[in-house]
Amino acid sequence: MHSSSPYKLSGPTVVSFSGGRTSAYMLRQVLDSNTDLDDMVITFANTGKEHPATLDFVRECAERWAVPIVWLEFRDDDTGFAVVDYATASRQGEPFEALIRKRKYLPNPVTRFCTIDLKIRIIHKYLRSLGLSTEEAPVDMMTGIRADEPRRVVKIRNRKSTSESKWAKMVMPLADAGVGVQDVTDFWASQPFDLMLSTINGRTLEGNCDLCFLKGAKQVYSIIASDCGQPMRKGDWWARQEREVVSTGEFTGDGARFRFDRPSYQQMLDYADTQFDMFADHDEAIACFCGD
Ligand code: SF4
Repeated sequence: MHSSSPYKLSGPTVVSFSGGRTSAYMLRQVLDSNTDLDDMVITFANTGKEHPATLDFVRECAERWAVPIVWLEFRDDDTGFAVVDYATASRQGEPFEALIRKRKYLPNPVTRFCTIDLKIRIIHKYLRSLGLSTEEAPVDMMTGIRADEPRRVVKIRNRKSTSESKWAKMVMPLADAGVGVQDVTDFWASQPFDLMLSTINGRTLEGNCDLCFLKGAKQVYSIIASDCGQPMRKGDWWARQEREVVSTGEFTGDGARFRFDRPSYQQMLDYADTQFDMFADHDEAIACFCGD
């Protein structure tokens, strides 16, 4: 491998694994491009609202590729994070909810503190607990942004470093290597395992937090509707956060809803229930000889 490969490590490097196909692809390229991996730390920050298939995929990548992936979660305590694993990872949104309780308002498309506090900050806190991401031990932070995401590339390149990320240099090897969504799709088509979430044009709609407010309204609603009649509906958690923040009386403006420009999560749940009930009495299949 030529030493100028964007995947080549040049000192302590953190691979920030989101649990998606793109960042897993990046991890695979890094593993294939380096013989000495002692300087690499791989992290996965779990918000507690990840799809179960994402957690399965993170575990499978670590097992099949024989690499340690450190699972991190936000905690509202002096340490600020906890190291968990597949078995102990939160699955009911607990880290996210703890952050909302601490902040006393909800994140929204402008103030996306969830991604900062549930992911970026805890990774740096964890690194500092290892003596990394400091003036004496700066790190490269590899993040899985592709070449076909130019707005994200520019945003990250222009980002001012905070006190936390001062000693971490953002590197985007996929963007540097010209990797686009089709390359990632082709790669996974040839692998013996995959993330078990469907894609549309290579994009995984159910990735990241299940009903993230940054997802399109139709996408959020279709996930809510597909959960109708289930005992554990993903939308209940989001509706409860909106209800409970409002009920503390501390917020009347922005911060009491994830989004003001579309129906609340409870309204979407109620609407989906109405639609579901319309068909409930007509759901019996009629027996015939054809079978299945
Ligand atoms: S996926 Fe959405 S809701 Fe979850 S941390 Fe990121 S921005 Fe926040």
